[in-house]
Amino acid sequence: MTVLKKIKENLFFIIIVIAYGVVAIVSPSMGLASVKNSGYYIKEMLMIMPVIFVLTALLDLWMPKEKIMQFLGKDAKMKGALLAFVIGSISAGPIYAAFPMCVMLHKKGASIRNIIIILSSWAVIKVPMLLNEAKFLGPKFMALRWVLTVLAIIIFSWIADKVVKDEDLPKDESVTKGLTINQACMGCTVCVKAYPELFEMKGKKAIVKKHDESEIDEERLQKTIEVCPVDAIEYNK
Ligand code: SF4
Repeated sequence: MTVLKKIKENLFFIIIVIAYGVVAIVSPSMGLASVKNSGYYIKEMLMIMPVIFVLTALLDLWMPKEKIMQFLGKDAKMKGALLAFVIGSISAGPIYAAFPMCVMLHKKGASIRNIIIILSSWAVIKVPMLLNEAKFLGPKFMALRWVLTVLAIIIFSWIADKVVKDEDLPKDESVTKGLTINQACMGCTVCVKAYPELFEMKGKKAIVKKHDESEIDEERLQKTIEVCPVDAIEYNK
């Protein structure tokens, strides 16, 4: 049972290894070239991803959830789509660097449609890419491709938004359930004054009091979360 579970969990990796094995048997030179290419990309990822993870964690800490919902959420409509195009277009680095950031944005309330626009713009209409395209293929070619690509992104992001639901994306298992206060707490005591039945000070930080989940006044808690100056209060039901 455990072996089967392990195989299921690592199925994609196992398929890749088998594919490498088959290629190496059929054509040893091609197998060697595949391993070298993969090694190159793994090395590149190992150099880039730690920086991306740190940047994503900082953005996660600094960007309030309400702002993400306001500017990139479902209700942001045209404004959200426009901002998503700008974020994707001015970004730098390979597309896989966009995935952790998009997971973070989705977790904080960005809509599926805007996530798709960010990823698509990042992949195909980045500004540095457009400049190179204009240089090698001419400005007319670049402008025409840009217009058609933007139209395609708008259409496909709209379709994907209808097909893919928020619940379809993997849940973030690292999210602690219930009411918590994160490391950002600076001990201003605002939450304790706003909702003393739930929060109290312990030393220079606020902590959550023992409470009955069913007795939480959600509206009052939401207001308290909003007044915390550093977004230190997290509530995940
Ligand atoms: S309002 Fe925020 S920063 Fe202030 S004590 Fe409460 S949790 Fe900490």
